[in-house]
Amino acid sequence: MTDVALIINGQRREAPSTFGVVNPATGEVHAQAPECTPELLDEAFAAAAAAQPAWRKDEAARREALKAAANAMMAAADTIGPVLTAEQGKPLASAKMECFAMGYWFNYYADLEIPRQVIQDDKRAYAEVVRRPMGVVAAITPWNFPLVLAAWKIGPALLAGNTMVLKPSPYTPRATLMMAEVLSQVLPAGVLNAVSGGDELGKWMTSHPTPRKISFTGSVNTGRHVYASAAPDLKRVTLELGGNDAAILLDDVDPAAIAEKLYQGAFDNSGQICSAIKRVYAPESIYDEVVDALAARVSMARVGNGMDEGVELGPIQNKPQFERVKGLVADALSGGAIPATGGRPMEGPGYFFEPTVLVGAVEGSRIVDEEQFGPALPVMKYRDVDEAISRANATNFGLSGSVWSNDIERAGAVAEQLECGTAWVNAHVALGPHQPFGGFKTSGVGIENGPWGLEGFTELQVQYRARK
Ligand code: NAD
Repeated sequence: MTDVALIINGQRREAPSTFGVVNPATGEVHAQAPECTPELLDEAFAAAAAAQPAWRKDEAARREALKAAANAMMAAADTIGPVLTAEQGKPLASAKMECFAMGYWFNYYADLEIPRQVIQDDKRAYAEVVRRPMGVVAAITPWNFPLVLAAWKIGPALLAGNTMVLKPSPYTPRATLMMAEVLSQVLPAGVLNAVSGGDELGKWMTSHPTPRKISFTGSVNTGRHVYASAAPDLKRVTLELGGNDAAILLDDVDPAAIAEKLYQGAFDNSGQICSAIKRVYAPESIYDEVVDALAARVSMARVGNGMDEGVELGPIQNKPQFERVKGLVADALSGGAIPATGGRPMEGPGYFFEPTVLVGAVEGSRIVDEEQFGPALPVMKYRDVDEAISRANATNFGLSGSVWSNDIERAGAVAEQLECGTAWVNAHVALGPHQPFGGFKTSGVGIENGPWGLEGFTELQVQYRARK
């Protein structure tokens, strides 16, 4: 038995069995979640398909429902926030912020115009390009931001007139099921269904005949499987995948002045952000100052159980990821890198790793070439800016990047040369519902957020009316 349930056709549904959910701050199973069976998944897709014809008909009702969904999520922050912290590890304030962010995203979509464009209006014809819903969407999310990343999918998919079956990561299923239960109070039955289970549940979803669209956020490797699984039915896909973002500092920056922003860009959510800073390139002339300023800030970070007051960084979310970060740092150290701060797992229970800044790490080492997705950051030295740009771009990832300078124009000219979906100047992880987000190269297929994200949940249709 478990307190959370699958949400199918607006109803709580028990599953025949449950699986344990670990609290990463303790390393112990703290709760259970329902294990969805193939039969229950069929029911979820059937409910979504049955709800769609009525849902797609009334745009005004959809907008009203999205507004109600926004209010419901914001009102539920105190209830869902602690559940998210317990399973994900993040500080309680950040967990509650996720609920508010869902509200923010839903409100944005409630007001977003669904584009129509007249392309011909003459004697021969009136022709318009319109956007039609796809049908049922299968949505799959990772464990770093289970709620807000679901909102990136639910908001536009529902506005466009689709219905959905949503699956969270098996590491963080409970907050999502609670969220779907809250939303079931304000959405018609079957519009949003939520199921939980292991990775195989994701495979059943992507190969299921009902959904016409798969919206996936997760790792590059799983993204490849999802893409392949969508191919036989030519299902539409959006894949938001991993990143290995570079931050390039120009020689006119004041290291102390930007240390806080660099720290947040790299270490927020304990570094478990797809578009976090994962490599820093600093010019030789200020390299030591950059390392000192960043290490000073990072060493002051308050690490602990996300439920404790004042904690800034929680644990790494799960054991395999903890082992991975530990392995990447150990590999860097054995290759000659030196910790300016941190470098080791922390004493005691849970998956805590010291926030780490590494000097002397090199391209070709795993911590630089791979996505660490954790609280460990290599800071590397460069001689001239062109070299920094080519090193930043020398990766198969292309999610985002940033350039830091007191001269915005100069930084902008460098940022334009980054091969990635978002190129920030004097910022990193600055995101919003109006701002398209997606990756170059292996960081993704398709776009989320803004009108571009909405289009990803539609089919383009030409409405052509002959006049003679
Ligand atoms: P993951 O790929 O292991 O899992 C993501 C989701 O896919 C989970 O719900 C999982 O159960 C499911 N899944 C696993 N195998 C599947 C399969 N064969 N078919 C269908 N679904 C399957 O990723 P993760 O470890 O949960 O998340 C971390 C990764 O996500 C990082 O690489 C990170 O960069 C990326 N991420 C990307 C974005 C973005 O917007 N670009 C945002 C957050 C995280």
